[in-house]
Amino acid sequence: MDRIIIKNGLVLDGTGAAGFPADVAVEGDRIVAVGQLESVDAEITIDASERVVAPGFIDMHSHADYTLPVWPTADSLLHQGITTVVVGQCGFSPAPLREATRESVVRQVAALLGGVGPPLPWDQWSNFGEYLGYLEQIGISPNVVPLVGQGVVRAAVMGYTAGPASAEQMRRMQTEVVRAMEEGAFGLSTGLIYPPGSFAAFEEPLTARWAQEEAFTSATFGAKAIRCDRRSPRPSRSAAGRVRRCRSAISRRRAKEIGARPDAPWS
Ligand SMILES: [Zn+2]
Repeated sequence: MDRIIIKNGLVLDGTGAAGFPADVAVEGDRIVAVGQLESVDAEITIDASERVVAPGFIDMHSHADYTLPVWPTADSLLHQGITTVVVGQCGFSPAPLREATRESVVRQVAALLGGVGPPLPWDQWSNFGEYLGYLEQIGISPNVVPLVGQGVVRAAVMGYTAGPASAEQMRRMQTEVVRAMEEGAFGLSTGLIYPPGSFAAFEEPLTARWAQEEAFTSATFGAKAIRCDRRSPRPSRSAAGRVRRCRSAISRRRAKEIGARPDAPWS
């Protein structure tokens, strides 16, 4: 196995400790030594003088789930040093898709992301687990922490219909969320300023519980919900301002733990 040594860099190890000068030896996908490694042989040596050597960055808010199926190497992420992405944000995830509403969901999402790249191979999945299985099958570069999107779950059950969900529709949505999490979703995201999430204005009990205290998500799966705030209480606030105030309930610490796991998904 080739050994790589990154020499003469300033190491920031991600713990919050001050940077320190050191060499880093890597074998395969493992760091095997950090320190003064002048006497250690390596097949590849990288001189990092006047540069910082750090663990890969985590992009906490990514929509790469809509690009990874067609650009699996994710070059633009890796060039920025991003090695883990938390996807499925803003209430949008590529799955689940259901037969009765699949066409309208795909059309709406394609319109939202139009021009970004080649069309996604939507026919390759319906369930959340099938989507993740597709990524695994084609092989992708970054680690992925997938969330299931409330907007897409809602659209799967009731299309882009504005107005309140019936009790039956709410039950089906909750079933979809549980199923997605059983199949690999780490949590649930909402984007209540975007349709169809914004139509959930009539479903306060549902959305509030989903976003904040839906106990089954955290208790059963150890996962959290990520929420983008609903309309600002001050109507004059700009949409951009509202988006900036999106709150993340997944702590950075939790994401670091996920990213650092040797068995991180889709590595
Ligand atoms: Zn977003």
